[in-house]
Amino acid sequence: MEATPDSDIVTPNEGFHEVEVSGENEVEIGEDNDVADLDRVSPSRCQKEACHHKYILTDKLTLCDFPKRYRDRDVLQLAKVLALLTVKVRVGYVSRERPEFSPENLRYPLYTLRGQSIVSCGSGRIWDVEIITPEQNRKCECRGCRASDTPIYAWAYVYVDTATHVVFDNDEAKSTDCWWGYDSPCAPHVILEGVAMKDRNFARDTFRIACVTHDLDLVRRLQGWTREYEELFWEVTNKYDGSEQEVKDNLIIIVSHPHGCYKRVSLGPWESREELSDKRTRYSYTASTCQGTSGAPVFIIGREGWEWYTHAHSWTDNKPGKTSNFSCYRWF
Ligand SMILES: [Zn+2]
Ligand SMILES: [Zn+2]
Repeated sequence: MEATPDSDIVTPNEGFHEVEVSGENEVEIGEDNDVADLDRVSPSRCQKEACHHKYILTDKLTLCDFPKRYRDRDVLQLAKVLALLTVKVRVGYVSRERPEFSPENLRYPLYTLRGQSIVSCGSGRIWDVEIITPEQNRKCECRGCRASDTPIYAWAYVYVDTATHVVFDNDEAKSTDCWWGYDSPCAPHVILEGVAMKDRNFARDTFRIACVTHDLDLVRRLQGWTREYEELFWEVTNKYDGSEQEVKDNLIIIVSHPHGCYKRVSLGPWESREELSDKRTRYSYTASTCQGTSGAPVFIIGREGWEWYTHAHSWTDNKPGKTSNFSCYRWF
């Protein structure tokens, strides 16, 4: 067999070649039993284990956790509402269409497991809901109702934003469950069943999935929180305008399910901001992220442009002595 010329060999982005595993997009390959407690995650499973103690459980978050400049009731409430809208994204199938490399030449997660029923986990943010009433005469699209002679006619869509490398296409969307309220052993979580891909941008690493539920009480509460998020979004953005001098004193809030465990908040500064010609931006930051954080909302205080377009976590560059985490591309 003829040797392949060097120029034909595709190698991953150099920065990730050295740290291949954690340099990949952060999707956690799950086990049969989800480990709920981050403290029980084996250190051997995480190269960033040292950052585990920096995560904050959502119900333990107080003003004291924020840097002095951001000890503000609206900032705290924004983080709490963002947490109420954050879900664990649990995908049960790997699409045959997953590519080997991302548009930025990073190794694409799960590529070698294409076509298999493997569980992987990321995070996502609920951005809107749509209630379907009996008058609309539309059968619920959940797996149970589709197989039932007596389907439900009062149900709702819940739309969740995540990253494309977490849920890749329609096949994966249909095998996905979003777990709302997966916060502690005290509160049972609600499963929002994925039914379809709603929107996707492979180059920007953004994905919107349509989920369904019969729990209309929850849906109405979610609706209230999306409105409160919008209000707080403007309150906080107006209070901390994102001028250049803030670069040295800035803050991001991430809410995610690291390793698929109970929800946690990470706080920290962002380091750099990259802007494309179409005004989309990507941020790098040092706030804690782990496998499972992919797709999680990354709120950049004073910089977010429009409430629907909160950045999402995408990948990490974990070099000895220096870890940088990067968001997907979003506006502003
Ligand atoms: Zn149903
Ligand atoms: Zn970890």
